[in-house]
Amino acid sequence: MRKKLLVGNWKMNKTIAETKAFAHASLDLLKKANAKHIDIGVTPPYLSLQTLITINPKLIVGAQNVHFKGNGAYTGEVSVPMLKEIGVMWSLVGHSERRTYYNETNESCNLKNIALLENGMTPLYCVGETLNEFEKGITKEVIKAQIDVGLLGIEDIKEVVIAYEPVWSIGTGKNASKEIAEDICGYIRTLLKEKYGEEAERVRILYGGSVKPDNIKAYMAMPNIDGALVGGASLTVESFSELINNI
Ligand code: PEP
Repeated sequence: MRKKLLVGNWKMNKTIAETKAFAHASLDLLKKANAKHIDIGVTPPYLSLQTLITINPKLIVGAQNVHFKGNGAYTGEVSVPMLKEIGVMWSLVGHSERRTYYNETNESCNLKNIALLENGMTPLYCVGETLNEFEKGITKEVIKAQIDVGLLGIEDIKEVVIAYEPVWSIGTGKNASKEIAEDICGYIRTLLKEKYGEEAERVRILYGGSVKPDNIKAYMAMPNIDGALVGGASLTVESFSELINNI
């Protein structure tokens, strides 16, 4: 039985002072989540990682991006060992905003996924089609390429978490129906089964895209959706708490 997972992606939101307030409140959020056997986590901007870890060391804290090289002349980047040194054990990889604004490709995501796994860390690998691809009816081809290339050479699939996030649903208020989300999350699991056999049953696959307290329950009832990656609705303690209540 896969444990449900709720991850809040803060994007470029919250100062350190604002993070402190959330981190203190997250101690109670974590108690509530534990009582419901749900894992919870947050991916804040880099500057706030240490604050969250110090105040709530048991919360899953992840970066929003990471470089695949350990060090070197890559101005503005942060490496896997740098994250690990401060106790960060997770990172998003290939979020659609990174793919769109910073030219991340399935190939660069693959290098990042590998670098994280080699360091004993968990990649939360994001996949999803654009509106144009959705309208053309090629969602599954896009997802297949993202999975095939992004996970190339990876053997220990159970250490990977995958988020299906249709790009047209992120931050738009147009969430995918639970049927569409289940269809694609189930498809991802089928692809994983072809490669990894029964190990694929251990992989957590999340849905993301305009998840709110009033729609999360419907997704959580679907057999292949093991949690949610949430942007806007993860920013306040009240809303995060409601998301936990409704899982
Ligand atoms: C996200 O940032 O991954 C996301 C799904 O955002 P939102 O919930 O705001 O659509």
